[in-house]
Amino acid sequence: MSQCVNEVLLGHRAYNFSAGPAPLPREVLEQARDELLSWQGLGASVMEVSHRGREFLHVAREAEQDLRELLHIPDNYHVLFLQGGARGQFAAIPLNLKGDRDSADYVDSGYWAQSAIKEAGRYINVNVVADGRADAYCAVPAQERWQLNQDAAYLHYTPNETIGGLEFSFIPDSGDVPLVADMSSNILSGPLDVSRFGVIYAGAQKNIGPAGLTLVIVRDDLLGRGAAVCPSVLDYRQQVDHHSMYNTPPTFAWYLAGLVFKWLKKQGGLTAIREINARKAAKLYGQIDSSGFYRNTVVPAWRSRMNVPFTLAQPELDPVFLAESAEAGFCYLQGHKAVGGMRASLYNAVPEFHADALVDFMKDFEQRYG
Ligand code: PMP
Repeated sequence: MSQCVNEVLLGHRAYNFSAGPAPLPREVLEQARDELLSWQGLGASVMEVSHRGREFLHVAREAEQDLRELLHIPDNYHVLFLQGGARGQFAAIPLNLKGDRDSADYVDSGYWAQSAIKEAGRYINVNVVADGRADAYCAVPAQERWQLNQDAAYLHYTPNETIGGLEFSFIPDSGDVPLVADMSSNILSGPLDVSRFGVIYAGAQKNIGPAGLTLVIVRDDLLGRGAAVCPSVLDYRQQVDHHSMYNTPPTFAWYLAGLVFKWLKKQGGLTAIREINARKAAKLYGQIDSSGFYRNTVVPAWRSRMNVPFTLAQPELDPVFLAESAEAGFCYLQGHKAVGGMRASLYNAVPEFHADALVDFMKDFEQRYG
């Protein structure tokens, strides 16, 4: 990791494949740096002014507007900029959507789905309507076998499993039951039909901005179903009524997210970013599949474009790969502690040439050890 740290200290941008908090676009960081001491000529940074002041309110509104444009969010949806992370939403979802229902349906696709299920179980009866256990969580369970309950408060799923590297390529059909998605690790990675969802939520620290901000997009008719014990800061109705400022919002993270949304628009929006993401992922999976030296066990149709876990066919080489790649300037390639091995996360702000550099390193490593 020493080389990696040096790169940062020297002002170069490291080859950063962190799963989150993850790289932000260089242009965004440069603008934030330039505005740090005096923002909008105020002689204060955006972090040092009131969230209720004219200047910040303008930034907040513009961020929402840009996000609405990027995702074509229909008018009957509210956008909330909250705190508490995706794990906070694991509790907020049942607490807000329970209404008069006793249970909710969940799809268990891996680590993060299971974490959502565990937390929801504290507030509502959870029915696991499908799970990927039989396929060792290497495939999305076939939708025709899901046992959905028509009287469920909602159906929850995790479109991208950040640790398992598994991504849904379809939006589930939940009928009249509101569909809820934890999009922490694939939101804004491509166009999305928001109108199919009841609630979308995401921790910001991958494709949106820095940690500390949580995005929630909620359909209007789902407000007002909250349990009486729902904490006010997690209560969608309260937060909508207060424009996400019931409590003091994470203003710097909100401002940075706004800069990221502008950067995304400049890249050509989500259709353009989807193509770049597809190319980066195809290059990496192509290298993994090119011989038996590297391995990724996810069924190709369900492989994540954002998180690419892999191991070496000879497991004793994993630590060698990690040590040499770190020495060569590749950061945070270590797999999640739950699974080990390697993982390269390829979020929007990872430049394509960084993915190219990793593929070149992998080729070279294979030549030397294969
Ligand atoms: N869901 C998914 C899919 C995630 O990847 C993560 C974090 N890696 C979480 C939930 C938890 O997010 P947070 O730390 O913001 O609570």
